[in-house]
Amino acid sequence: MRTNLCQLEHLSCFGCCGHDWKNKKEVLEQIMKNTKRWEEGKMDKFVKESEAHLSRSGGCKSLIFKEGRIVCALHPLQNNGKDFRDKNCKINHFCEAFKEFVKWNKKTQKKFIDFLLAKNIDNYEYSMGMDSGEFLKEFKEREHIH
Ligand code: SF4
Ligand code: SF4
Repeated sequence: MRTNLCQLEHLSCFGCCGHDWKNKKEVLEQIMKNTKRWEEGKMDKFVKESEAHLSRSGGCKSLIFKEGRIVCALHPLQNNGKDFRDKNCKINHFCEAFKEFVKWNKKTQKKFIDFLLAKNIDNYEYSMGMDSGEFLKEFKEREHIH
């Protein structure tokens, strides 16, 4: 299976599902609130409430905790192929790290994965580092990739 940097082993990235991110505590508390709304099981209501604007923590209100991961509750992967993502979601957006990664050969891809996993970071740190381009920059400098 192809490696998906958005869900890498135990790490979930949500970096591009928001902006002007607040601190870890605020972001995770908001995701917990979203999860509770989602657990009510009323999808129409959930979509409507997620749609209006980003939360104060900076993140999309569709981000939830599910089975040990942080995922988009509206994504087709969570909804048997049905896409509930709304007009405010840039469905085709990928970060620079993602876009470059898919063009690298297997050896460089593995090096990048090992580099990321060796950081021993959590979901929040992973998301911020991926979205800002910091991890990509650090890796490319280290490996002399131009
Ligand atoms: S920032 Fe990159 S790795 Fe993270 S969810 Fe977006 S596309 Fe995926
Ligand atoms: S709808 Fe889903 S994919 Fe789109 S920004 Fe929100 S969490 Fe991310």
